[in-house]
Amino acid sequence: MRQSRGKVYLIGAGPGDPGLITVKAKECIQSADVVVYDYLASPVLLDYAKKEAEIIYVGKKGGDHTLTQEKINLLLVEKAREGKSVARLKGGDPFVFGRGGEEAQELLSYGISYEVIPGVTSAVAAPAYAGIPVTHRDHTSFVSFITGHERPDKKESRMQWDIFAKSDATLVFLMGVKNLSNIVTKLMEHGKPSDTPVALVRWGTTTRQQTVTGTLDTIVDAVEKARLKSPAIIVVGHVVSLRDELAWFDKKPLFGKKIVITRARAQASGLVAELNRLGAQCIEIPTIKIAPPEDKNPLEAAIDHLDRYDWLVLTSVNGVKFFFDTLFEKGKDVRALGHLKFACIGPVTKERLADYGIISDILPETYQAESVVDAFSGLDMTGKKVLLPRAKKARTILPEQLTRMGALVDEVTAYETRLADEGKDLLIDMLKDRDIDAVTFTSSSTVTNFLTLLDGQNLPALLEGVILASIGPITSDTIRAKGLAPDIEADSFTIEGLIEALLEHYENVLPGVADN
Ligand code: SAH
Repeated sequence: MRQSRGKVYLIGAGPGDPGLITVKAKECIQSADVVVYDYLASPVLLDYAKKEAEIIYVGKKGGDHTLTQEKINLLLVEKAREGKSVARLKGGDPFVFGRGGEEAQELLSYGISYEVIPGVTSAVAAPAYAGIPVTHRDHTSFVSFITGHERPDKKESRMQWDIFAKSDATLVFLMGVKNLSNIVTKLMEHGKPSDTPVALVRWGTTTRQQTVTGTLDTIVDAVEKARLKSPAIIVVGHVVSLRDELAWFDKKPLFGKKIVITRARAQASGLVAELNRLGAQCIEIPTIKIAPPEDKNPLEAAIDHLDRYDWLVLTSVNGVKFFFDTLFEKGKDVRALGHLKFACIGPVTKERLADYGIISDILPETYQAESVVDAFSGLDMTGKKVLLPRAKKARTILPEQLTRMGALVDEVTAYETRLADEGKDLLIDMLKDRDIDAVTFTSSSTVTNFLTLLDGQNLPALLEGVILASIGPITSDTIRAKGLAPDIEADSFTIEGLIEALLEHYENVLPGVADN
């Protein structure tokens, strides 16, 4: 077999919205041995990397370099020489003000092979997400991408201000925020009309996107007032005025809202994705960690003796996962369950069970134990043996009701939920800065743990003006029991219901706008 040789892929990671990565770039990250990324590349893309891939952050924020460009180059060379496939993720497009050309030259000089995977550049994408097409036949015949920050060591400027000023081109400046006042002054000095429209788009295509508009003579003040900082694109030209008509991204119903997600990270992705889609910015502060039970014996013993049971009742996705993990660890498979009847609480639990090829016999309408009791009510449960694998310290209503129906219930701990506190400092800082709009609670334990994280803080002051959003009445009761009041309560006890309730609360639901 030929020995595989190292190679470096200079990859455009896109402007920020992780959906704007190319298929080719994604495949490349998936197969890379080493992923090298900097601060403009969306960290979400790292999730595509193999588990064993080495992930290296090389920073670079304004002048603040974690690694110098020379060290980055050497790192790429070194890893490629080890025979590795190196994915070098760069914000936007690697060859548009990304120093990708320099990295390629450097690789070439060391005889390292490389490929370039172009990306969606922020120069086009950030204006597009602000409703500004960089060209439009009625307004301009060409577009220029200009550095707003010439190399400091350059003796003579290459900036052709007279040409920029006299043409009807759309001028797109990158890296120009700090230099904004100089840019607008130079343009006006060279004859560009002072009423030429200008926009700055910060963190374009992400849920943090911020846009400030004005004209050459007003924009500096407007930017100062909005305290807009780097990284931002500056667009100068008549196309900017189209934003009034064409803005779409910032019209999403939850745009600009910062929402804390308290559920376990492994379970948060659906909620986060949907809220992002609606324009919200999600701050993930998981308050719960889900772990196998400290004592696995009861679950293992139950699985050793499945023939003793008539029913298996599953109350959560985690219950399903940990039950099957243990079943498989014991060398068994679904054939060991053929004689059992199944009840699942909630459609999501039912779907997860179906992933294992099993259709639930009973599906109570909601996650609440009370409705399970209703669902069983037509059945004769007398003497029936029920296995109930679920969380430690779960509520007692379900086993009690089943026992009352005559069933013999074996409740075993399938998993435990523990307090997660890694996000505590971030949470407190953001709340103190009044930087959070809403907090979502998807179970009573998220409420309890969230408040544990805020122990010792001045709660009323910290949570003033923060919307507390609860997934249903039981979670709301827990909020109230802690002396707080839920502002929002979902009526269907589902993630969809919670999102619906948030949308209703913010009232600016625009049907048809959110999802196109
Ligand atoms: N190669 C990148 C540009 C790198 S230069 C690309 O093609 O997009 C860095 C500059 O890019 C920043 O100073 C800023 O002007 C711009 N930039 C990058 N990402 C941005 C974003 N999401 N929103 C606004 N500007 C961005």
